[in-house]
Amino acid sequence: MIITIRDQVSSEERSQLAALLCQVTGNQRPAFATTIEEREVIVLDSSQLDAQVCSTISELSAVEGIVHIHTPYQLVSKTFKADRSSVQVGDASSSQPVIIGGSAAPVVIAGPCAVESREQLLETAQAVKAAGAQILRGGAFKPRTSPYQFQGLGLEGLHLLAEARELTGLPVITEVMEPEMVEPVAEYADILQIGSRNMQNFPLLFAAGRNSQHRAIMLKRGFAATIDEWLLAAEYIVSAGNPNVILCERGIRSFDTHTRNLLDLACIPLLRELTHLPVIVDPSHGTGRRELVPTMSRAGIAAGADGLILEVHHDPNSALCDGRQSITPEQLQSVVHETRIMNELLGRKALLV
Ligand code: PEP
Ligand code: MN
Repeated sequence: MIITIRDQVSSEERSQLAALLCQVTGNQRPAFATTIEEREVIVLDSSQLDAQVCSTISELSAVEGIVHIHTPYQLVSKTFKADRSSVQVGDASSSQPVIIGGSAAPVVIAGPCAVESREQLLETAQAVKAAGAQILRGGAFKPRTSPYQFQGLGLEGLHLLAEARELTGLPVITEVMEPEMVEPVAEYADILQIGSRNMQNFPLLFAAGRNSQHRAIMLKRGFAATIDEWLLAAEYIVSAGNPNVILCERGIRSFDTHTRNLLDLACIPLLRELTHLPVIVDPSHGTGRRELVPTMSRAGIAAGADGLILEVHHDPNSALCDGRQSITPEQLQSVVHETRIMNELLGRKALLV
């Protein structure tokens, strides 16, 4: 249930509402207050509240209205907000702003899996820009399966990403793995990535909602997460105060070993029914094989994605991370070109209904 608060409500009216909510929830379930499109709202799980209680809440003078939403996720649901959300990435002072979602054309995000060195990042960043991609990716903190694998350059990687942004004007996206690092990463990054392995790291989701200065957050689907679990993870971020969430389908675990993951493209039209949040596709992690990336990029755009995130390396065979699935800058150029053609061919409006 989402309660919209009236403008210019007095502190007594506020206390009256707070007291009633404490009483009806028995203080056992948190009610979240946040601001969505300049409207103050309170969200709570109303599954155990009877109709009489709901009507008492709606009669309080602090309350403008109540929206009943019959899914566990609330603020991210299409029932709450029918228009598709868009997220602005980058600010004109340090990079070229880019819009993801809404009715904007699909965006291509590209770059190395990991920032490996200054030379590697700057060379790739320039190639990414020349290929026509609009946002640069690069992991500074890498969540690696083995403790013996390259773990990323850490803070030095963040400095290099800022330098690459300065050089190219491209906004940058990088992963954050710990709640305490949300603030420092938000100092450098235009988009904070929450990786598949951390999709249900609740303290991290909460910190991304609270401490990211409203930077865009790209939330990757956990590799064994249902769509509802994924949307509830997004709900954690939005309810904690940051509405700028972008979902990223990056493949889920399957029984077949030919591909690294099973790219669930059916979730894209499905998510358009369930949520107003933008959705992008990651065919690199979704397939694990560079030869499949161009085809699955086209398929992602055809399914209605708001963009792609692609791993690119100038010498994929020497990459310190995910070289097998990294395409070359030349291949990126053709994916960017095909993305534009697919979008024109299909007509954005047709995909958005
Ligand atoms: C990545 O983007 O390099 C990454 C680690 O992705 P995921 O969390 O989807 O595995
Ligand atoms: Mn990777």
